[in-house]
Amino acid sequence: MLAYTYIERGRFALLEKPRPELQDDGDAIVRVTLSSICTSDLHIKHGSVPRAVPGITVGHEMVGVVEKAGAGVSTVKPGDRVTVNVETFCGKCYFCRHGWVNNCTHPYGGWALGCRIDGGQAEYVRVPMADQGLDKIPEGVSDRQALFVGDILATGYWAADISWIGPEDTVLILGGGPTGLCTLQCVLLRGPRRVILCEKEPGRRAFVEAHYPEVLTVGPEEAEAFVAAHSDHGGADVVLEVAGGEDTFILAWKCARPNAVVTVVALYDRPQILPLPDMYGKNLTFRTGGVDGCNCARTLELIAQGKLDTTPLITHTYPLSRIEEAYDLFEGRRNGVIKVAVTGPS
Ligand SMILES: [Zn+2]
Ligand SMILES: [Zn+2]
Repeated sequence: MLAYTYIERGRFALLEKPRPELQDDGDAIVRVTLSSICTSDLHIKHGSVPRAVPGITVGHEMVGVVEKAGAGVSTVKPGDRVTVNVETFCGKCYFCRHGWVNNCTHPYGGWALGCRIDGGQAEYVRVPMADQGLDKIPEGVSDRQALFVGDILATGYWAADISWIGPEDTVLILGGGPTGLCTLQCVLLRGPRRVILCEKEPGRRAFVEAHYPEVLTVGPEEAEAFVAAHSDHGGADVVLEVAGGEDTFILAWKCARPNAVVTVVALYDRPQILPLPDMYGKNLTFRTGGVDGCNCARTLELIAQGKLDTTPLITHTYPLSRIEEAYDLFEGRRNGVIKVAVTGPS
């Protein structure tokens, strides 16, 4: 089968590999019908994910059909259409029992697929601990509707969930990329009074203005003054930092009102400075992370009810055989690309 593979720093290649087999009772083999490319794949390519193992098939955002299931798998069976969770987790350890599945202590716990073990930019993928890692796609929900459930939509849902958003709040989101847009939708579901999205690229701001007319948009230079002017208490009540840029961490806490919640979703290339003397007395609460991707059944339900729709994020579609071109487009951010869908062989 075709599998897009991490060869070495700076190089991925589409290789012919044997189909994956069941290795454990809890495994399932999924035929990948649709996958996507994530910024984290580019982080692997550029060598900024040291635990990524050369030779593995990349890709951790995909949906498909269960081809085989091990004897220990009880929640799905061959023929089921499923979303694949970016995180593998045991469901039993201390962290899993608290819903902190990102910190699952199993050797495959956390982000393993397409990083430490073979992922889904391929015709087939082996999913360990499939009872936790797969969710059935409801009747009437298409592959394109479900594509982001296991990764960026899970992140957006989790980020909104941990940010203590109330009905009177002004919520600021930094970053209008794919994860920022998923976060935006999940924040809107919670019905805060105002939502402001800060994004440096005018094209991405225009996308937000076209699809979410109730959301205010601003560029980073004007953000601090704009947020203060559009908040009731001198700054945002909740800030979600999804941009991960050079200066966006500073911007996040500067735009927050005293006693605000600042949720940091972004993955930075470099360490960030927390200037406690400058923020002394502001009494902020920081929440940080790594998605706990255990709400996929809930987000699939919201999609089925028409309350979440991430299909406008899919701006381009390529077959797996042309995935190099898809990467080139996504990495070069050309032609207004937000997300690329990669179709499996039919
Ligand atoms: Zn990802
Ligand atoms: Zn666990």
